[in-house]
Amino acid sequence: MMKDGDNSMKDIVALCKRRGLIYPGSEIYGGLANTWDYGPYGVLLKNNVKQLWWKEIVMKRADIVGLDSGILMNPKVWEASGHLTEFTDPLIECKDCKKRFKGDDVKGDACPECSGSLGEAKKFNLMFATHIGPVADDKSITYLRPETAQGIFVNFKNVLDSTRVRLPFGIAQIGKAFRNEITPGNFTFRTLEFEQFELEYFVYPETADKFFADWADERLRWYVDLGLDSAKIHLKAHDKKDLAHYAKAVTDVEYKFPFGWSELEGIANRGDYDLVQHQKVSGESLEYTDDEGKKVMPYIIEPSGGVDRATLAFLVDAYREEEVKGEKRVVLALDPRLAPIRAAVLPLVKKEPVVTKAKEICDSLRNKFFVEYDESGTVGKRYRRQDEIGTPFCITVDFEGLESEPQTVTIRDRDTMEQKRIVIDQVGEWLAGKIN
Ligand code: ATP
Repeated sequence: MMKDGDNSMKDIVALCKRRGLIYPGSEIYGGLANTWDYGPYGVLLKNNVKQLWWKEIVMKRADIVGLDSGILMNPKVWEASGHLTEFTDPLIECKDCKKRFKGDDVKGDACPECSGSLGEAKKFNLMFATHIGPVADDKSITYLRPETAQGIFVNFKNVLDSTRVRLPFGIAQIGKAFRNEITPGNFTFRTLEFEQFELEYFVYPETADKFFADWADERLRWYVDLGLDSAKIHLKAHDKKDLAHYAKAVTDVEYKFPFGWSELEGIANRGDYDLVQHQKVSGESLEYTDDEGKKVMPYIIEPSGGVDRATLAFLVDAYREEEVKGEKRVVLALDPRLAPIRAAVLPLVKKEPVVTKAKEICDSLRNKFFVEYDESGTVGKRYRRQDEIGTPFCITVDFEGLESEPQTVTIRDRDTMEQKRIVIDQVGEWLAGKIN
């Protein structure tokens, strides 16, 4: 059954709440618009997204190191980066209904909501300001970082001085960023507080175009490898006239969400803009000295993605509604590497020695995998519950398996619903093979 975009998003939002993936923020107080909290299964999914990125970008590569810089930084950073003056969206207010719109969302000169007359577009800075210390004046002002990238540029010299990196090399980090968006929405797609995974890859200027193209391909491949439908994801180059103030070229990885093609990640050639700016404003030399002693200002290629957007894309892409034996089955067909719970261990009947053995198997898997034990209700209901949170395998313990020699369990595959028998002692290794 096909559903239009709005309906399928509604189903996904409902599933996320019902099954402990994502809850509306501050809900018992009536919520706070466009804030969301990751529940017990959501945090596991999101952690898997982050770990898979970290593994791919930092762990597997000899040329990239990690970093974890602060959310609060010296406000001079935002002066140097251009965010204080340039990180703005045009804000238009309707004179009649007072509703506010982002300039890009308004076509023509009537209010999209009430057809009333619109005021002039004003520049609205998206950074959240805050104050350090007890006095809220201009001297105490600072900002919650709107991107993690600046923490990397500001530590470029520290990393050069304290490690053995040589060009080309990268510094990567995952962390929270904050933007006072004029029109947040579409569930976790655009929120005020979100997480980014950002890589700043420093290169010799003459090699920048090649690295820019390579990183775009590489990043697209990562999403497809983790299961996104290749027909619903593509690269889209920005027009030169639409480029952000720091960029020489940008290509987005876009995914076809139920609400339309939207950016998952941007790959930018930032040139030497950031290092030159920070050198100028800080007065510290940020040049790199090559093996011949020549000074170079590296160019930066930046793949910058949103953890929450990636997580949402994996959720949306995995969501299926099927009919099985006349009943509706909802499944999250997540790649096993992303699945919050790797396997559920279920006693077929609530009787001894089945229950004890099932608990024993579950405990033995627990120090390596997130697994879950469940003995409540019919086995059919338990399967459905695991299907809805995307658990790829259900390990069922029954009398028949315990009476055989060696003892066996059945493993049910989430997607095919087929079951096969496997020797109990081999379950851990079998599962590891499926997840790594
Ligand atoms: P958009 O055009 O959608 O506002 P952007 O081009 O401003 O995004 P970047 O500044 O390139 O975004 O940020 C890098 C990544 O951070 C984006 O690709 C996105 O995945 C994520 N991101 C940016 N803003 C938000 C937000 N408000 N909520 C969730 N994720 C975000």
